[in-house]
Amino acid sequence: MTVPTQSGPTFASRNPNTGDEVRRFPLQDEAAVATAVDAAHIAGRWWVDLGWTGRRARLQAWKGVIARRAEELAELVHREQGRPVDDILIEIIIAIDHIDWAARHAAKTLGVRSVRPSLLAINHAASLSYEPLGVVAVIGPWNYPVFTPLGSIAYALAAGNAVVFKPSEYTPAVGQWLVEAFAQVVPEHPVLQLITGDGSTGAALCRANVDKVSFTGSTATGKKIMAACAETLTPVLLECGGKDALLVDVDANLDHAADAAAYGAFSNAGQTCVAVERIYVAAEVYDKFLEKFTERVRDLHAGGGADASYGAMTMPSAAATVQAHVADALARGGRAVVGGPITPGTRTIDPVVLTDVPEDSLAMTAETFGPTVVINKVRDIDEAVDRANASEYGLAAAVFGKARAREAADRLRTGSVTINSWVMNASVPALPWGGVGSSGFGRIHGEDGLREFARAKSILRERFPAPIVLTSYARHPRSVSLVLKLTKALHGRS
Ligand code: NAD
Repeated sequence: MTVPTQSGPTFASRNPNTGDEVRRFPLQDEAAVATAVDAAHIAGRWWVDLGWTGRRARLQAWKGVIARRAEELAELVHREQGRPVDDILIEIIIAIDHIDWAARHAAKTLGVRSVRPSLLAINHAASLSYEPLGVVAVIGPWNYPVFTPLGSIAYALAAGNAVVFKPSEYTPAVGQWLVEAFAQVVPEHPVLQLITGDGSTGAALCRANVDKVSFTGSTATGKKIMAACAETLTPVLLECGGKDALLVDVDANLDHAADAAAYGAFSNAGQTCVAVERIYVAAEVYDKFLEKFTERVRDLHAGGGADASYGAMTMPSAAATVQAHVADALARGGRAVVGGPITPGTRTIDPVVLTDVPEDSLAMTAETFGPTVVINKVRDIDEAVDRANASEYGLAAAVFGKARAREAADRLRTGSVTINSWVMNASVPALPWGGVGSSGFGRIHGEDGLREFARAKSILRERFPAPIVLTSYARHPRSVSLVLKLTKALHGRS
């Protein structure tokens, strides 16, 4: 594999389960970032010239490489990020689908189309197209290092942009793998480039001459990125943190709800942006649900072995947050029904299930991003919706129930809701993905996700002289009053 070159400081990614170094990369500086962005502008023009069909073929070929080498990629993700390989394969399968969808739908979504002119412009032909922005900077997190950045990269490329990608400093080798796989099928120009480094490299990328920044990561970093981009009015797309709720109504299939909730809370050690962090259960079925949930969770355990349910916390510092949230919840009257206080310094954390936790405690208000979940009893589904909505975040939510599930979903203040499942919307490329409030704004995936990386351009062409000319000093003195009469006849009666 070729590692980006630059003399000077370097950093290494490490296996969270063993501490072993995976690979060393340069901590790229402002000059290296500027060079990459300059090259991207040139490569982008070549990419645009390939046209919809040419780009579609290259993206399909890229998808093919990833599909054929999925196990190798999963092994690398496992080493850098720590999750069990089968869970990673699910991530890769979904990501492949997204590349395919973006490639197949770009022309239809963004290509030139005719629209009806207005009555005043009846003598014109009107058309609309979506042009690529130019160079898109994609700054990614480590928690789903394939699916998450590709949700921006694939759609930005399909829309005709060049991309400069800065993966998380915890998963740079995965980023490098994806970029090299792309270079195999697009060897002519650096249409997708890798930049490695930490927040300082990301900050330099925001201030480089890029046409949009697509960021996925924490809300705190999202705010810094938006501030940096404000200096040059560079548009941003922010996919930030969450504090997702799962709601269980009286008529829910409790076994199904408990299964989904357990995987939603603990898979990837809870390090999922849409991880289930709060569960609200209608009083009538609360005890039954709690019993079924704890049954499923009791034997789960963290570790790096083949039998582990999930891995160690990827970021060493993240364990302290989980420990603090659990300690705060217990100090404020919460009860642990599985697990308990977390030993400081531990990075391999078995499940912690808390109940009766005050709604204003850290475990209910701040993103925990760890293997712990709160299950609180509510009067009914209405109270569940109100409590779920009383959060600064609004990424996704899940509702389990029958009669009132759709109504509850409609009332949830989130970018997406799944009914009787968790996270499956991530696997439907046609559905947009994104948040509300502190979870960010803008959408990846689907037609909205393609349009995020394009600018609408309209063209209006006069086809023949207008029967009544309005925008001319030579217009007839009665033209305006005639058109006003017509307008009143058409609109004045409603
Ligand atoms: P993070 O904010 O620490 O880092 C994300 C990326 O931003 C990294 O590449 C990092 O190097 C870079 N960065 C840091 N400071 C920067 C700066 N000042 N300027 C530019 N770039 C900078 O987040 P993380 O720990 O990697 O990821 C976890 C977070 O991501 C969680 O909050 C999670 O909820 C969120 N997330 C959201 C989604 C979503 O779809 N909404 C998906 C996955 C993860």
